[in-house]
Amino acid sequence: MSNQWVYSFNELDRADKYVGGEWDDVKGLLGGKGANLAEMMRIGIPVPPGFTITTEACNAYLACGETFPEEMWQQVLLAIQELEKQSGKKFGDQKNPLLASCRSGAKFSMPGMMDTILNIGLNEETAAGLIALTGNERFVYDAYRRLVQMFGSVVMGIPDEVFEEKMSACRAGANVTSDPQLEASDLKQLTQEFKQIYRRYTADHFPADPYEQLKKAVEAVFKSWNGKRAVDYRNAAAIPHDLGTAVNIVTMVFGNFAEDSFTGVALTRNSTTGEKQLEGDYLKNAQGEDVVAGIRQTNDISQLNQEMPDIFAQFEQIANKLETHYQDMQDIEFTVERGKLWILQTRSGKRTAQAAVRIAVEMAKEELISRREAVLRITPEQVDFFLHPQFEREAKAAAKTKGGLLATGLNVSPGAAVGIVAFDADLAETWSKIENKKVIMVRPETKPDDVHGMLAAEGILTSRGGRTSHAALVARQFGKPAVVGVSALKIDVNKRHMTIDDDIIKEGDWISIDGTFGEVYRGRLATIVPDIMDAWLIKLLSWADTFRRLGVWCNADNPTDAERARTYGAEGIGLCRTEHMFFEPRRLPYLHKMIMTDLPIERREALDALLPFQREDFIGLFRAMNGLPVITRLIDPPLHEFLPNHMELTHDLTDLKIRLKHADTLEKVNTLLQQINEKTQVLKRVESLQESNPMLGLRGVRLGIQIPELTTMQVRAIFEAACTVAKEGVEVHPEIMIPLTSHVNELKVQRDILEVEAQKVMHEQGITIDYKFGTMIEIPRAALTAHQLAEHADFFSFGTNDLTQTTFGMSRDDAETGFLIRYLRSHILPENPFTAIDREGVGQLMAMAVEKARSVKPELECGICGEHAGDAGSIAFCHAIGLTYVSCSPYRVPVARLAAAHAALRDGKNSELKA
Ligand code: ADP
Ligand code: MG
Ligand code: MG
Repeated sequence: MSNQWVYSFNELDRADKYVGGEWDDVKGLLGGKGANLAEMMRIGIPVPPGFTITTEACNAYLACGETFPEEMWQQVLLAIQELEKQSGKKFGDQKNPLLASCRSGAKFSMPGMMDTILNIGLNEETAAGLIALTGNERFVYDAYRRLVQMFGSVVMGIPDEVFEEKMSACRAGANVTSDPQLEASDLKQLTQEFKQIYRRYTADHFPADPYEQLKKAVEAVFKSWNGKRAVDYRNAAAIPHDLGTAVNIVTMVFGNFAEDSFTGVALTRNSTTGEKQLEGDYLKNAQGEDVVAGIRQTNDISQLNQEMPDIFAQFEQIANKLETHYQDMQDIEFTVERGKLWILQTRSGKRTAQAAVRIAVEMAKEELISRREAVLRITPEQVDFFLHPQFEREAKAAAKTKGGLLATGLNVSPGAAVGIVAFDADLAETWSKIENKKVIMVRPETKPDDVHGMLAAEGILTSRGGRTSHAALVARQFGKPAVVGVSALKIDVNKRHMTIDDDIIKEGDWISIDGTFGEVYRGRLATIVPDIMDAWLIKLLSWADTFRRLGVWCNADNPTDAERARTYGAEGIGLCRTEHMFFEPRRLPYLHKMIMTDLPIERREALDALLPFQREDFIGLFRAMNGLPVITRLIDPPLHEFLPNHMELTHDLTDLKIRLKHADTLEKVNTLLQQINEKTQVLKRVESLQESNPMLGLRGVRLGIQIPELTTMQVRAIFEAACTVAKEGVEVHPEIMIPLTSHVNELKVQRDILEVEAQKVMHEQGITIDYKFGTMIEIPRAALTAHQLAEHADFFSFGTNDLTQTTFGMSRDDAETGFLIRYLRSHILPENPFTAIDREGVGQLMAMAVEKARSVKPELECGICGEHAGDAGSIAFCHAIGLTYVSCSPYRVPVARLAAAHAALRDGKNSELKA
């Protein structure tokens, strides 16, 4: 049997069988739109009859040089006959003509990416027939002029503006402001004018043959799969390019029949807040894209309840049914023709991060989905969104009192965005990508052609459109703050400026938009990162915690960060970098002294002076982390990092010497000489400490071995602090970590020094504290000899930043500003190994180290404290190799909690992770 290229909406079972029963594959074959139309028909939702030409047909068409695969057209003709039977109308018939729409629909929803043509089947004869039949000349010519317009722009590529200009002229001529006010004669006239435009641009007549219209429309959909805007969108949304699109041919229903007819779009829950309430717009006497195009002011769906309570109730019931059926918030297109409700599309609705979280939690509470499913539905990026900037309240208040609030509109995608105004997508893209400027893209309304500019912009502002407008949908999907429907805004794209009352904003001027509140401000407002105390997020993360096996700790060097991380859910400090503590101005001189001197006494004095500072730091940390482990890493960086820079020193010295030449009093000569002397000393020291490869030089444990007093001082500070707070009743769990170990003997030596000092302090303080001693694994040799290190360590922590540097043998600073860029661009490396763990190399070392170490100490605590610990993919890997915890920056803690839960929930399904 030959291929089945065409499936009627009531042949879903056959399609199911053909692909082998998986819904995902049905969507792959029929496209999301087609599969859902058929599914709705199966569960008894009123859907106009129609059929789907498969994605396989599209791929075959594109593969064989843009010709229909064999038999496809015959199958289309048979399916049309079937529609004729069902409707009692005939395609191309002069008395009772069947009209149809031709709609694209790929596996994944790609809003507005490919074009729909409505009212196929109209020509002079069928139009006349339809007028006779309906007695509604106005309606028929409205449909007809739309067909010529859509067919002309979509199939033949005539610029839409040409048609729009004629529409405006016609409205002006008829002295009306909106399309429904146009009369039959106006529309009839327009249809003729549109046909002339068609002729002028294509040097051909508008095709009168309905079958020719249909054929060309189907081809246009197929071709649009490879159109620029579809390709751009797929690149941005990471959708594969080989899926192809299906084509749906659907019997027309008419929202533009008269005032008792309308068309609309609604979401089953609020897409900004997630609240369980219908959100949407409708337009009377309108068709297709009118609602989302923003050309007329739409009515809010709640108004329908007053105007047509019966229809509203029916719609509510269907919305509920669809939500329950698909177990997700739905985005529904509907049309009412003379009081009869039809559903034209359903798909899962786009939503903000806040809405996604609230919907997932509430659906779990409604027992529509499980908690596990709720957790899986939220992505790490969505959690991250809660940590994104919002405007400072004071900045907004100040701007408001000074008249900086220019206008308000609909708050369709939350967040704060600041940038310079760009009035078209190409400019927005150029400014942002090439000139590195922050841009707000401003348009009367947006179209699919604008997406590249919207993606490049910080935020989006339009003067027209509603909550379901193209601008709003795209903004929400990509997390761009957006304000739409700011009707006070008069945009003059030609003059490159916009006016709001008497205010003029020119292209390139700074504005700030608040997508959370729908406000537009002049100038640049200050932003802050909000506290993520969203009640639904807290609930969702608490569910995530019940699923994950990995602990989530944080990297924090001071009590403020530690406390913040703790409120975000951190269960310990996995890395406290002590060197940051030395950089404070009050402390640095002592450190300098310690580095500069050769005399043991002076070194001792310097360290003694530093001790109280360090102790105070640790006291604060231990208090903040009461009851939780705190891993302190002993000093790590090469000493020269604490001294002034060599260049600067030489420069200063030359300067001093010149001043010496011009010194005119003995006193000045003396001070200058003294300064020169001091600087020369420092310079000598800097020179003696200078290394050819500081990253691989005297640092980490090597430093502790070179200057044992440094280790002793740090250990003393930690233990004095621990004993002090323990006496206050704080529960302390200090863990001391040696950096950059490569040989087990380094560990032994340091451990001896440490234990002596620890015992001493505890004896002095008269209290015993449980503590752990461990090492970082950040040198391949350490990983290779992990079983030896494990004998002398209570814990391991993978320092994957250094481990990546040392495994690749590349320094991060040199790589990321230099050759790594080319490596990534030419795919020599699939990903930046400093962002996502290189599983094959670095990851293999980690897995091996864990295995070797646990073969001698099965319960050994193994964590990770490199930046990878905040990366979702790397967290999944850490889960797979059985790490105890991940330790990331405080702001990544909530993300890591979710990612760790995902890793656990997907465990088993993703067995390749364990390989
Ligand atoms: P998109 O994928 O851009 O949403 P659609 O194929 O859904 O495009 O169609 C565009 C518009 O035309 C939508 O508003 C849709 O509801 C409307 N439409 C499509 N087919 C029909 C039809 N047979 N009758 C009435 N309206 C239709
Ligand atoms: Mg649609
Ligand atoms: Mg390191």
